[in-house]
Amino acid sequence: MLFKALALAAIFFIIYIVFFKKPNTTIKTKRKEKKKPQPKGDIMMECQQCQTFVSEDDAIIKDGKFYCSKQCAQLR
Ligand SMILES: [Zn+2]
Repeated sequence: MLFKALALAAIFFIIYIVFFKKPNTTIKTKRKEKKKPQPKGDIMMECQQCQTFVSEDDAIIKDGKFYCSKQCAQLR
């Protein structure tokens, strides 16, 4: 009985190592993916009226063109 318990403990230990090692490899692959430059919203767009650069989130799009403000968009 004691030998069986030891065998079971050894099996659980091996399973533990296998499951413990797997997350480490996935973290390493994720880190490699993070190194790649990914544009995230901070794209600067040039105003068609006054040539001021504004972020894409703040820019006003009119007729497919980017403007820094509503005033510039209306001037044309
Ligand atoms: Zn402008």
